[in-house]
Amino acid sequence: MFDYQLKLSKRRKTVAIKVTPDQVVVTAPYNVCEVALENWLKSKKDWVHAQRNKLELAPSIQKPLHTRSLLVFGSVYKIEFSDIIKPVLDHESHLVYLPEELRQDRHEFRRAIIEILTDLLCSYLELCLERLSEQMNCHISAVKIREYKSRWGSCSSKQALTFNSLLAGAPKHMIDYVIVHELAHCHVLAHNKLFWELVEKHYQDYKSARIWFNKNGKKLMIE
Ligand SMILES: [Zn+2]
Repeated sequence: MFDYQLKLSKRRKTVAIKVTPDQVVVTAPYNVCEVALENWLKSKKDWVHAQRNKLELAPSIQKPLHTRSLLVFGSVYKIEFSDIIKPVLDHESHLVYLPEELRQDRHEFRRAIIEILTDLLCSYLELCLERLSEQMNCHISAVKIREYKSRWGSCSSKQALTFNSLLAGAPKHMIDYVIVHELAHCHVLAHNKLFWELVEKHYQDYKSARIWFNKNGKKLMIE
């Protein structure tokens, strides 16, 4: 059997099971027969087990304050608190050093992490955006970086590009796909056949990149 928390309700007529990553909650009518309930729950054992497996396998967002780790360009960096004023990154040892006082301040900790990712993405864009935009014959009017909840980038009709800071957690060749995608929007705004042909011309394996983001996108999010 499995451990569960039982909630009795006067309004409920049927029994329900809710599986979350931390617990199983069973809600039942107030006057439920305990033996019948136990037997019924026993019959649901495999289902509960399967639900739990599913939840464990599903990629979840990053909780860097809790796990003391952060994805940087596809690699896991360890977070260490230290007696410093500003965050420092050691790419060789895959380490992020943060000022000691951020340990106790969730809000400031998160802000520092987003700032690190924004700076990283900014320097990466400086390295390759010019080459790619020239190659794709785009005349970008502005480039911005900000945190988006549900998109990786955007391109306005005035050819101003915006990229999601959280992209800095993805491998560089995946970031390249997003860059090519947004640059292609400078020529074609819709996601039509012409658009995807243009993307493919400059990023051959764009289908794999799209699958990668569907599968791993959530892991780039920060709690
Ligand atoms: Zn698009």
